[in-house]
Amino acid sequence: MTDKIHLSAPDVGPLEESYLIAALRSGWVAPAGPDLDAFESEVATKVGTRGAVAVSSGTAALHLALLGLGIGPGAVVLVPTLTFVATANAVCYTGARPIFVDCDPRTGNIDVALLAELLQRIRSRGERIGAVIPVDMFGSCADYSTLLPICAAADVPVVEDAAEALGATHLGRPAGSFGRIGALSFNGNKIMTTSGGGMLVGDDVALLERARHLSTQAREPVPHYEHRETGYNYRLSNLLAALGRAQLIRLGSMIHRRRRLRDQYAKLFAPVPGVQLIGAEDTGSNCWLTSIRVDRQRSGWAAADLAAHLAARHIETRPVWKPMHLQPAYADAENRLTGAAERLFAEGLTLPSGSVLNERQVTTVFSAIDEFLTTRTGAPAA
Ligand SMILES: *Cc1c(COP(=O)(O)O)cnc(C)c1O
Repeated sequence: MTDKIHLSAPDVGPLEESYLIAALRSGWVAPAGPDLDAFESEVATKVGTRGAVAVSSGTAALHLALLGLGIGPGAVVLVPTLTFVATANAVCYTGARPIFVDCDPRTGNIDVALLAELLQRIRSRGERIGAVIPVDMFGSCADYSTLLPICAAADVPVVEDAAEALGATHLGRPAGSFGRIGALSFNGNKIMTTSGGGMLVGDDVALLERARHLSTQAREPVPHYEHRETGYNYRLSNLLAALGRAQLIRLGSMIHRRRRLRDQYAKLFAPVPGVQLIGAEDTGSNCWLTSIRVDRQRSGWAAADLAAHLAARHIETRPVWKPMHLQPAYADAENRLTGAAERLFAEGLTLPSGSVLNERQVTTVFSAIDEFLTTRTGAPAA
């Protein structure tokens, strides 16, 4: 039997099973209950924020963050072009307009100098900038030490899309804690999972409570069903929160495994001309996904060649995110580009990075890459 090796499969086992069964037996089979409350406070502790609100997805978290900041029709929101589509979609749900910003070619994170220039330019035409949403790409924090002062000076709130970055740090501070509010995702392929789920984290308790209210159909706290505005059914299930609590206990060891894989890839590719690990210098990364970029002029082969070689051996790889400005859904949106994201899309390849990979699977992946490099360069890679 060939078992396919995935990019980032869920890493769940007996601990998750016991937490789920205990929650089921507790009778709290609803989007309310003790595991939900405990999960929120445990994640808030992990991220170092005063509060947290558990919701049904990272996308819902982003949507509520923007609504909580009063963003709607007439506002523009600055979003990196190199991201998963959810970041842009959440902006559109509010009726605001996303403007896409190119990335730093080394990290894939938002190009802060370009962002600063764009903030000025949009300001000068008198438009209302609702927020900036930096994305912590593949588990590596954006450059907050330069980004935050620029956004503060422009008086624009930051919504941190930390969907990929739980457990990462930037200058010792945890991912999720940098903006007015941060969004996490617990989708099946993320660093930890509740199968589907997300969370808002932050220190602004009033903003979090506003999001919580909107996430529960904006139901007023009275005995009958009273609603003064349109809300959403975005709350996380107590069962899934229980699963999340078990995952959170194991988060440190799961990150450790992903970091070890990153180190192994770094060693493997170090002697290979034209190949670089994206974001390799960031020691605070949670190493959610490891991606390489391949300069085919120097390597003599393209990322797609390695992808095809691995696919034939049932090993999954992916290009990095296709930039939003190249997506048909967002082709008409305004953007500010340098070409960096397009080059990363053309040259990047994301490699199997999951913490669930066993030693045999890791050996299979590394032998397959070794074999590819040997045939392509005529000499063993290392
Ligand atoms: C996964 C992801 C999201 C969305 O999270 P879901 O839980 O899948 O809705 C948002 N932004 C980024 C950058 C992501 O990678």
